[in-house]
Amino acid sequence: MKQRINLLISFSVIALIVLMTVQCYLVKTAYEYKVAQFHTQIKNEIGKITNNYSDIDSTLVAKKEALYKSLSENYIKGKNSKLDIKIGVLRNDYQSALTKQIQRKFERDLPNFKIDFAIVLNKFILYKNEKKADTIFSEEPFIQNKLYGNLASLNHAFLVRNYVGTTNGTFENEEYQLLTEDSMYVSVVDWEMIILRRMTFILILSLFSILTLISLFVIAIKALIKQKKVNEVKTDFINNITHELKTPLTTLGISTKILERKDIRENEESFNSVVKTISRQNSRLQNLIDQVMANSLAENQIELNKEKVNAATFLSQIVEDFKVAYPNISIKTDFDSQDTSLVLDQFHLTTAFLNVLENAVKYGSDTITIKTRLLQNQFSVSIEDNGIGIAKNKQALLFGKFYRVEQGNLHNTKGLGLGLYYVNQIIKAHQGSIAVISDLGKGAAFTIVLKV
Ligand code: ADP
Repeated sequence: MKQRINLLISFSVIALIVLMTVQCYLVKTAYEYKVAQFHTQIKNEIGKITNNYSDIDSTLVAKKEALYKSLSENYIKGKNSKLDIKIGVLRNDYQSALTKQIQRKFERDLPNFKIDFAIVLNKFILYKNEKKADTIFSEEPFIQNKLYGNLASLNHAFLVRNYVGTTNGTFENEEYQLLTEDSMYVSVVDWEMIILRRMTFILILSLFSILTLISLFVIAIKALIKQKKVNEVKTDFINNITHELKTPLTTLGISTKILERKDIRENEESFNSVVKTISRQNSRLQNLIDQVMANSLAENQIELNKEKVNAATFLSQIVEDFKVAYPNISIKTDFDSQDTSLVLDQFHLTTAFLNVLENAVKYGSDTITIKTRLLQNQFSVSIEDNGIGIAKNKQALLFGKFYRVEQGNLHNTKGLGLGLYYVNQIIKAHQGSIAVISDLGKGAAFTIVLKV
């Protein structure tokens, strides 16, 4: 059974992990899709701005062309090196003005997003005649080649478009053509948040389904373990009750057989002795049935018949009766207050206290100390014994129905595992509490606290 449960738990955990992985994968795919969709949206919006920015500021664009031409012509003359052209192109004086214009255009056309951008120059090629191309420079998109824009790095930016521009010119009756290629990169401030906001519904739904799955899994496993415990407890109970019933029934059987003998019937002394045995066994059977019946009642079904009693007198009576039943056990009492009054059900609480006292004897004690204390409206009775004690890991289970430390078929000491369960139910019905302090081989101390 235990192995099966472990196997079931392992399979369920694996299934849960697989499901969670699939869920994470789906969320990741949805995120990537949303990112691509977002980029397309931004590209489309920016696509409406013409490539050469003449719609933004034609004067600046004209200035740019003039600069390119003069740099190229100086180069043809031999006054400029390739590097001079690159430096000249990148350090133009209309750079910040055009950056501002483009920025303003973005703010106007895409008011919902805060966009940073960079336009980087990739190629600058000069064709002096139709065929011969003179590559001034040609590089991969690189932030150091920034023409305009306010982006400091291309790392988190995405490519919106490439633009190839041509400019024609004549120098000393010779025609030349200029080919430039630039790329525009943009980055939307807080774009992750924008996408996450767009995914809120999916995220909440998948989180909810994962949490539901985990909760269902935990509930199912808990129910399974509880069911297993109940089964074990039931088996133990059936074993115990069968064992408990066997002795009186066997004795009754033998006694009836003895009574059938004429010589016994005629001898008054023997006859009375057998009848006494039958009566004892009968009351033992009655006791067992009463125990089972009493414990089939839940806490709120117990009907208490409360009355005001003097605590010390009530306890002294129990102790006196107990001494008669167990003359060999030494009982010490240490009653703190003599005039505390309690409102309680005498019958049920007497049985409860006797259960604890009888347990002390049953589980190896020959000296019992009963102490009472009164602390802030709390009346506590502690019953300490010097018996076999209870291991720490078993203590939390003691008050459970049918629980016995001696589990299974070991029957060194008789019992149904109902005594302390009953005590706990009665104390709870009085709005009180019971606790145990013990260790294996060191005796046990049960403390019952009742409200004054
Ligand atoms: P039982 O019928 O087995 O005595 P109880 O509910 O009275 O059932 O007690 C539950 C278990 O607690 C017992 O089986 C026993 O192992 C342990 N126990 C109870 N009282 C004591 C005690 N005073 N000393 C040691 N063990 C105890």
